[in-house]
Amino acid sequence: MKTLFHPSLYQFDQVQPSYWEATAGSSKLKGEPLSGTQSCDVAIIGGGYTGLSAALHLARDFSVDVCLLEAGHIGWGASGRNGGFCTMGGTKVSLKSQLKRFGVEQTRGFHQSQAEAVNLVRALGEDENIDYLPQGDCEFIVADSPDHFVDLQKQAELEQTLLGLDVTVHSQDEFREIGYDSPHQHGAIALRPSFALHPLRYAHGLAAATERRGARIHAYSEVVHWRKQEDGGHLLETASGSLHAKRVILTGNGFMPEHLHHGVKGRPLPVQSAIVVTRPMSASELQQKGWHTENPTINSKHMFFYYRLLKDGRFMLGGRANHIGDPAGAEQTFSQLKQSITRMWPQFAGIEYTHQWRGLVCMALNLRPSIGRMPEDKSVFFAYGYHGNGVNSATWSGRELARWMAGKNSGNSVSPTHLPAIIRGRPPRFPLAFLRRQYVRAGLAIYSLRDRFNF
Ligand SMILES: Cc1cc2nc3c(=O)[nH]c(=O)nc-3n(C[C@H](O)[C@H](O)[C@H](O)COP(=O)(O)OP(=O)(O)OC[C@H]3O[C@@H](n4cnc5c(N)ncnc54)[C@H](O)[C@@H]3O)c2cc1C
Repeated sequence: MKTLFHPSLYQFDQVQPSYWEATAGSSKLKGEPLSGTQSCDVAIIGGGYTGLSAALHLARDFSVDVCLLEAGHIGWGASGRNGGFCTMGGTKVSLKSQLKRFGVEQTRGFHQSQAEAVNLVRALGEDENIDYLPQGDCEFIVADSPDHFVDLQKQAELEQTLLGLDVTVHSQDEFREIGYDSPHQHGAIALRPSFALHPLRYAHGLAAATERRGARIHAYSEVVHWRKQEDGGHLLETASGSLHAKRVILTGNGFMPEHLHHGVKGRPLPVQSAIVVTRPMSASELQQKGWHTENPTINSKHMFFYYRLLKDGRFMLGGRANHIGDPAGAEQTFSQLKQSITRMWPQFAGIEYTHQWRGLVCMALNLRPSIGRMPEDKSVFFAYGYHGNGVNSATWSGRELARWMAGKNSGNSVSPTHLPAIIRGRPPRFPLAFLRRQYVRAGLAIYSLRDRFNF
């Protein structure tokens, strides 16, 4: 298979050396590989949050006969290796542009759906007894400069008055007391109901709940061929078996298997994200370093960092990585992330690091997530493009796909017209799609310049 990034990012039999894998607990679902010839109503390609949530809701709420095929172990993709921020976002379209293009009602609908998606993750945790180690009760966005704080205050006002979101503003002095201090801290806003969790435990919990509801889950079952059948159905082939399905949900996000279906070719824009984690720090050490929060936090730059404390007192920080994806480039990224930590928080200088890993998030040309079905084959559904914010968005999109497919409102439409306009339909194909990595490179350079010269 020809891959967009370096092949080292697509080794389905390799487990990431992540903190999450090291602390996944005992709830791992084995999921035997597909064998022989099987059939089902809905086949799902990909065992991340999108696929698992779609499978769970189809099986649990609508008694649909579902079979999910995952190329690696369950949660092998971004769902098992992200930062665990269950926060609001999902699009890179600025709030001003959203309002201008989609109007207040649709924009409000989208942001409310993001808050609903966070609450859905909480509810699934409780209802399905998922041990995902929740932390915090909001998300902080920290101003990197006094100008950024003015911008954040304006954003908070719009979010409160027009979008009905729960946002509070905290001055630099206030945030020093409830968050942390840093030469790069100039005040912050807090968004609720966001929180943080253990992403791999969440994926395993979703998988266990899905199996309990009677859906079949096969790990180590990479779909290598997809053949359309004369009866309108589909035949999905893996190395050890084949699956007949009436309908297919194609997921994959940053790891989208574009070679399997023409309808998705050249549309996702995978971008690397990387994470480093320190040794644990005791409560008194953290107190001494002036760190007071467990809430997931990002800073206000275009090339922003995301960071949080973990349950055992470790500090985790993530950011964008290079446009190639080779192991040498990854090492460079990890050391740049560590240098950034020392620059932003001199009190962490010299601390040891225990884990580092990376993965792919997914952007799109229209800078929006999408839920839809292929215009060229309406028995194929998809959801992807969460712009680095899939813990809540992918879970919600999976549920909405399930509801759409099982409900009366699916009709013949290629996009779920009952959902907010911002997430409807298929993202456009990139012109000269083979150049997508170069587009990523240019995008990263532009973001760096904007941060440096503040425009
Ligand atoms: C380093 C990193 C940090 C992140 N941090 C956050 C965060 O803190 N908060 C947040 O909200 N989001 C975060 N994200 C993004 C988030 O993880 C994703 O948006 C989300 O997990 C997407 O879920 P998914 O199910 O659509 O895709 P994935 O979880 O990527 O799953 C896709 C699956 O498809 C499988 N697959 C691919 N090809 C085939 C095939 N041919 N046959 C069968 N299976 C196949 C892959 O093996 C993979 O497991 C982060 C991502 C990364 C990489």
